Amino acid sequence: MPLESKILTMETLDIEIAQLENSKFEYPKKLSEVKNTIAKKERDLSFAKENLEKLQREISSANIDLETHKKELAKSYERLNTVKNNKEYDAVQKEIRERKSLIEDTNRDIAKLKEKLPQVEDNFKNAQESFEKIETENTPLVEDLTQKIAAIDGNITTKTAEKHNLASQISANLMKLYNLILFGRKKSGKALSHISAGSKVCSYCGQILSPNVVKKIMTSANPVVCENCGSLFVLIENQKPLDSEA
Ligand SMILES: [Zn+2]
Repeated sequence: MPLESKILTMETLDIEIAQLENSKFEYPKKLSEVKNTIAKKERDLSFAKENLEKLQREISSANIDLETHKKELAKSYERLNTVKNNKEYDAVQKEIRERKSLIEDTNRDIAKLKEKLPQVEDNFKNAQESFEKIETENTPLVEDLTQKIAAIDGNITTKTAEKHNLASQISANLMKLYNLILFGRKKSGKALSHISAGSKVCSYCGQILSPNVVKKIMTSANPVVCENCGSLFVLIENQKPLDSEA
């Protein structure tokens, strides 16, 4: 394995480690967002369900009232047959009028409640569909993120072990320089500027490279860094070993 490949592999590992470290914050944040979205739809559904059940209870309770009023009216009519005088007759007639009026009111209430029913049923159906859609869409994401979160620390340990193994194959001086650059770039893990024969700019910062610098990168036996950003130049086409020690 030529040295350039080793230092490039090292950078790849550091980029992966940086991404894993970032995902320690990003994944739980994303997971909580997704769970909140599902929970909101679930609350909407539960609200719509409560509204529907409340209306159904009101209708059924009004129907029970109606039956009671009807039975009472029938009893009043029966009592008409047993009245003993005009006074009792008038009283029962009054009772009949009151009960008829109660039946009318209750019928009106039931009609009003039933008018609301289609809309409330629609709201419930829509909330249910909306919840099921969001839940179906997001459940694989929740599972995926949960698994990824559980695996982050193990993956970092594995990558770090690979890194240590690789570091032992790279000269101490070069590793020292590499680690120094990496120290300020932990978030990205990128310490290198990738240069090939035709490169005109630093791949890290975009600084235009003078012919002198390009020549130095191509020919120097010592590591060369970008004057602008401090990245370590690495030839990605193996024209020349970066460090003859390795
Ligand atoms: Zn640069």
